[in-house]
Amino acid sequence: MLDIKITLTTAPKEKPKTDKLGFGKIFTDHMFIMNYTEGKGWHDPRIVPYAPVSLDPAAMVFHYGQEMFEGLKAYRTADGSIQLFRPQKNIERMNNTNRRLCIPQVDPDDVLQAIKALVEVEKDWVPAFDGTSLYIRPFIIATDPFLGVHAAKTYLFMIILAPSGSYYPEGINPVKIFIETEYVRASRGGTGFAKCGGNYAASLIGQEKAEKLGYAQVLWLDAIERKYIDEVGAMNVFFVIDGEVVTPSLDEGSILPGVTRASCIELLRSWGYTVTERRVSVEELYTAHREGRLNEAFGTGTAAVISPIGELNDNGNKIILNNNEIGPIAQKLYDNLTGIQWGRIADPMGWVEKVCD
Ligand SMILES: *Cc1c(COP(=O)(O)O)cnc(C)c1O
Repeated sequence: MLDIKITLTTAPKEKPKTDKLGFGKIFTDHMFIMNYTEGKGWHDPRIVPYAPVSLDPAAMVFHYGQEMFEGLKAYRTADGSIQLFRPQKNIERMNNTNRRLCIPQVDPDDVLQAIKALVEVEKDWVPAFDGTSLYIRPFIIATDPFLGVHAAKTYLFMIILAPSGSYYPEGINPVKIFIETEYVRASRGGTGFAKCGGNYAASLIGQEKAEKLGYAQVLWLDAIERKYIDEVGAMNVFFVIDGEVVTPSLDEGSILPGVTRASCIELLRSWGYTVTERRVSVEELYTAHREGRLNEAFGTGTAAVISPIGELNDNGNKIILNNNEIGPIAQKLYDNLTGIQWGRIADPMGWVEKVCD
């Protein structure tokens, strides 16, 4: 159990009174901070007014990018209570990321306690409009003022909160995806499975290129053969081929193990679908499409939950999927996941974690 010291703000901000919140632009009144010092462990957990932090310009995070982050949401249900979706999965992934980046482990119970405590302090910030939520961003940065290339001895663990709008204010729109063959995001032995800022820094150039060509996101391929599909921007990816649900396996360590991905696999299997985790090549997809066997494709992630893919572009060779409409499996997953998250339907898997009434 953490002994969290709480200092409340004396100048609360005006809460937005609209559902047009966008994503990650508005932050709440408070944040959680905890320090790490070698030999002492994590210490001084506190909730304080949201404010800039002061860091030495030599702080290691600025130079060698020793940083990790997580992303999950708090949802307001119809009866006004607030709940999280499988937060233990995010916390478990956090420690896997930490291990890869030589960041000290965190106590899973302490992190869950910190998330719940901060969300409860900010409960009035959890929006109630349809499809809105409170995005939770835990992250850790290396803070030693030191230019040697080495794992740091001091860290800051922080949690900030951002009320976020509905991802689909005008209904679900299939996205256009550009298959990237020039740049790579992650390779075997690298940091693809870890949620760290460095992965994103390296992927921006591909994302910019795709956007210039009119595409929403990049589909990343394996770094070695440039044949097999890894994932989309900030989403894992699923294909339905001949009625079989297929998603790239995590074995290579180059794919981020999404909580939404795992939840889709578990739900689909509980409904009797065959889900195969294996390598999927671009060629297999294009052949299946030509033969009329590629039924649907969609991305999965906390932000959009399910994002149908309407078009793929492989070096100018474009294919339209499922008439640019959301497919039945994507729709069923979307309805069930969002139903569980916002408490509109029963939670058969016990995935929901209540924060407060
Ligand atoms: C966070 C993330 C995902 C999605 O993971 P969820 O836990 O489902 O939100 C997928 N790919 C990348 C690269 C990510 O950073």
